[in-house]
Amino acid sequence: MRKSIMQKDRTRCFLCGRNGQGDPLEEHHCFGGPNRHLSEEDGLKVYICGNRCHRNGPGAAHQNARTAEFLKAEAQMAWEATYGPREAFLRRYGKNYL
Ligand SMILES: [Zn+2]
Ligand SMILES: [Zn+2]
Repeated sequence: MRKSIMQKDRTRCFLCGRNGQGDPLEEHHCFGGPNRHLSEEDGLKVYICGNRCHRNGPGAAHQNARTAEFLKAEAQMAWEATYGPREAFLRRYGKNYL
């Protein structure tokens, strides 16, 4: 298991900045489905309010396509800054989100 390369501060929601009081922060893998294990290996995950920002709110990562795409773009930027050029990202994740 790798630490997030996107977010050093695990005490604030990556999306809204709340501190998890009353809505504990949860870990979100920016690339799910078949790429979830790559997200885990590469540290492409963020900590976000479990109810409001992760699972159930209207803007939540698992409810709102724009939020999901935003997090994927952020993840790609972090990946390219850490691991290598865009071609390498495309080979690994199959799509450009930027
Ligand atoms: Zn999630
Ligand atoms: Zn939040």
